[in-house]
Amino acid sequence: MARKNPAKKSVKKPVRKTAKKPAKKAAKKPAKKPAKKTARKPAKKVAPRKAVRRKLPAPKAAPVSARKAPRTSLRAEPSFVEAAVRPMPAPQPLPMVEPARPDRRLVLVFMGPPGVGKGTQAAKLAQHLGLPHISTGDLFRDHLKRDTPLGLKAKEFMNAGQLVPDDLVVELVIDRIGAQDCRGGYILDGFPRTVPQADRLAQALAVRGERVSAVLYFDAPREVIVERISGRRTCRACGAISHAVYAPTRVEGVCDACGGQTYQREDDAADKVRQRLTVYDASTGPLVPYYRERGLLREFDARGGVEDIYRGLVATVESLA
Ligand code: AMP
Repeated sequence: MARKNPAKKSVKKPVRKTAKKPAKKAAKKPAKKPAKKTARKPAKKVAPRKAVRRKLPAPKAAPVSARKAPRTSLRAEPSFVEAAVRPMPAPQPLPMVEPARPDRRLVLVFMGPPGVGKGTQAAKLAQHLGLPHISTGDLFRDHLKRDTPLGLKAKEFMNAGQLVPDDLVVELVIDRIGAQDCRGGYILDGFPRTVPQADRLAQALAVRGERVSAVLYFDAPREVIVERISGRRTCRACGAISHAVYAPTRVEGVCDACGGQTYQREDDAADKVRQRLTVYDASTGPLVPYYRERGLLREFDARGGVEDIYRGLVATVESLA
């Protein structure tokens, strides 16, 4: 008896349950169709989750290594100056992702009246930092020498001691700073010289995510400048500068460096210098408050010795870090 009872119970119970269940499910199916569709959605979510997991490792590896390269190079260097010398010191797996860290580029503007000695300082610093020294006066003189259309356009203004029109200068400079050798930074000497030029430079830099790092402003009394410039002699062959009074060549008219012929630039004649100073005060003078208001101006008394001024200049540039 004990064996029969459990067998009967176990048979009867499943039959009743399975018979009821299909009936209930069949009744519910039409009503729950939309619900089932939503119930399937979690299953679809599984696939995207797997895809996200697969994607994560690759992007993580690229940006992290790319970001670390410039940061570690800056931290490893003792100064901003040396960072500019070697903007990409360590070989990195993805050097093309962020090749130059545009926001870290050293963009220095040398400003001051003609003949104040800023060109000498700019050249020394450029050599020290390994950055291109871009002198707009030199660029124009080069065009003049080669009789290019730009040179011919600039000639009349230069010889008259006037500024070359903004459009011509800006085009020349924007083209130059886009060159490969400017990737680590550059030194602008003699540009900008007007507020519109400064605005155009700021706009061009902003497009690349850059800005001027500092404006190094050299000044001296006007009579000192006239004496300095009118005595200046330039070598036709190598461009070396000497001075008829303060740094004469061993043989008058002959360059010490290369034996080339030295001459007084047409725009270095005393009357032209006075004219250029007048033009400078009117056109470039407003850039002093312009850059001072922007916190970029660093001022130097250009009457000191070249080396003294240079030491102060290097200290200033190092402090930009
Ligand atoms: P510099 O050797 O810098 O004194 O330049 C020589 C001449 O080039 C100037 O007197 C101007 O005629 C011309 N020049 C150089 N830079 C500029 C500039 N930024 N804007 C207009 N003219 C310029």
